[in-house]
Amino acid sequence: MTGETKTCGRCQAVKPLAGFYSGLICRECSKKKTAEWKKANPEKARVSALRWASSEKGRAINRASAAKFYKENPYTHSHYSARPEVYRAKNKLTAERLTDCYVANGMGLSVRDAPKDLIQAKREQMQITRLLRELNKQLKETK
Ligand SMILES: [Zn+2]
Repeated sequence: MTGETKTCGRCQAVKPLAGFYSGLICRECSKKKTAEWKKANPEKARVSALRWASSEKGRAINRASAAKFYKENPYTHSHYSARPEVYRAKNKLTAERLTDCYVANGMGLSVRDAPKDLIQAKREQMQITRLLRELNKQLKETK
């Protein structure tokens, strides 16, 4: 039925049914009421948000909105499946710069476990290896 209205039990405004969820107060009032409750009960709100996020329905909705976001914003993240070329370019840059993380991973260590001196020594070794490889290549080309 179109044109049907309902009076909000809180702000007394007369609104079309689409302006209500299911209760007696309108959507705006419902949002305000929730915001007020969150402000008054931050701890309960946190628990409730966590419970919602870990629920079957909450997870499905979060997944769907994440998928929608990634589809609409392909450049804001470099996930392989979405933009393989961005992902590869980023990896290449990491390899060229020999970041702590990259060097540590090359030794099979996490960057947190690897001592800084060891990372530095390994980085220099990798730079020398690269330099040698480059020199050999140039030598072969000039022959
Ligand atoms: Zn209202």
